[in-house]
Amino acid sequence: MKISRRKLFESPSPLQLTTSASELDLSDISNCDKIPVTLHISRSGTTASVDGELTAKSHLQCDRCLESFDRKIRGELKIVVTENPGMATGTADSDIIVFPTGTDKLDISSLLRDAIVLERPMKEVCDEKCKGLCAECGVNLNQSDCGCQDEGFDERWAPLKEIKLAQLEN
Ligand SMILES: [Zn+2]
Ligand SMILES: [Zn+2]
Repeated sequence: MKISRRKLFESPSPLQLTTSASELDLSDISNCDKIPVTLHISRSGTTASVDGELTAKSHLQCDRCLESFDRKIRGELKIVVTENPGMATGTADSDIIVFPTGTDKLDISSLLRDAIVLERPMKEVCDEKCKGLCAECGVNLNQSDCGCQDEGFDERWAPLKEIKLAQLEN
C-alpha cells in the first residue's frame, strides 16, 4: 500500500485506507480485497508520527480438529516518517523512515505485512474447548460422539481408576 506525500503530511487524521492481501503478499486472508487500515498521524514540521492499525481475517487450520476457521488479527504499526534525511542519521531508532526524495509515494506494504505476521498465533486452535479428533476412528469429536473411548477402555489405566475411586471414598 502506497501513501502519498500529500496524504501523509496534509490530510486530516485519522486516515482510513484499504489494502489487499496481494499488496501485503499474504495468501491466507479471507477479507483479501478489503483489509481496513487506520492511520493516526501527528505532524511536526517535516516529520509525521504514524500510529496505525489494520484488521485482517486470517484463514487458519485448527491444530486439534483440522477444521479451517477465520480469526481476526489486529496488527499495529508505529513509525516516524520524515522528509528531512538529516534527522534519520545518527539515530539507532529503526522506526524512522525517510520519505524518498524524487517520488510522491511511500510504500508501507512490508510494514503492514509484518504487523499482521507478528500477531499470528503460534498454536492455532478453533476454540479453547475444541475436543479434536478421536485417536481411534478420526471422527471430529466436536461434531459427533463416536463412543470409542467407552468401548476401547485401556486396561492399563484400570489401576488409576481404582486409585481415583479409593480417593473418592476416603
Ligand atoms: Zn478445532
Ligand atoms: Zn472414535
